[in-house]
Amino acid sequence: MPRTTPPRPIDVTAVLPELAVHARETTRLHPRPGAPDATDSSIGGPLLWPADEPWPTCTAPRMVQRSEPIAPALVTALRQAQAEREAQQGAGSGGRRSPEEFALLDKAMSRRGAGVDLIRYTTHWYESEAHEEPNPLAAVAQLHARDIPTVRFPAGTDLLQVLWCPTTHQDLPGQPRFYAGPSVHLVWRRVSDVSSAPGIAPPQPRDTHESYLPTPCVLHPEQVTEYPHADLLPDALRKRLDAQDERWLEETDFHYQYDLSIAPGCKAGGWASWHLTDPASVDCRCGASMDLLLSFDSSEWDGGSKSWRPLEDAEADHVGVCEPTGLTPGRWGALRIFLCPVDPTHPPLLNIQ
Ligand SMILES: [Zn+2]
Ligand SMILES: [Zn+2]
Repeated sequence: MPRTTPPRPIDVTAVLPELAVHARETTRLHPRPGAPDATDSSIGGPLLWPADEPWPTCTAPRMVQRSEPIAPALVTALRQAQAEREAQQGAGSGGRRSPEEFALLDKAMSRRGAGVDLIRYTTHWYESEAHEEPNPLAAVAQLHARDIPTVRFPAGTDLLQVLWCPTTHQDLPGQPRFYAGPSVHLVWRRVSDVSSAPGIAPPQPRDTHESYLPTPCVLHPEQVTEYPHADLLPDALRKRLDAQDERWLEETDFHYQYDLSIAPGCKAGGWASWHLTDPASVDCRCGASMDLLLSFDSSEWDGGSKSWRPLEDAEADHVGVCEPTGLTPGRWGALRIFLCPVDPTHPPLLNIQ
């Protein structure tokens, strides 16, 4: 059964025709749990893999969370400061942290290697630890060029395979400093180069983190049009859009960011959404501004983006439909892979929102 994105509730270019030049096509992959075979495009399915090609492994150190708090006294002091503030402001008021809390948090974060969960006030060590043995990568996705015409493949290739080490890595060579997630490995190949004889089952990763292991899903690719995050538009256009957006929201309850611009869910090509941080420039080492290659999102739609729910799933809100892959990178975020438009063999850049 195909999946069909409902028409956007408002045609933004009818109101702001200048947006049209910023339009990009994306391919919504519409993954759904199933049993893909090695010849299919899939997420979490088997890959077409030459029998004589070694399966890639990871030797980069991973981050391991230690269960014991970094400094129990610090955690106690933080909780006490929070309780005092809440007593003054009223519990659950969501008020601003006090200067004392900020000072304690600064102290916690300045400790080398410490990761601080600012939301729950629990403080743990994160230590860098080598895999005991090279960790076989997990097969994450296989995409035929014919299924994702929104991606430009390197010359002579028609199949993209995504593998990653399903543990959290930081300080990966060539990646942004703040990236913390799987170490991603892309393979571009030509289907006709791979023998059709079924290969032996690939080795499974030994070190794993559940949030990075996909449920096998078949795909129902569909192209839709997207428009960029408002902050990436030229100033004058962004101002007009902001004013218009307020009217849309007031009159229709639809919002440019959630309903009219960028599709949620797993997709290939198109515009990257920026909902956790402001839009950041993603530049290749050659200086080119990189394009979104793939987004692995935890959810195909949620409360803020229900207008993107396919017509065929109108009645379906259960987990297997709106959270089909089981991937939840960055605490229910989206792992995005960016590619150089000048030379797709330049190393990709990773970002989690
Ligand atoms: Zn690894
Ligand atoms: Zn480049």
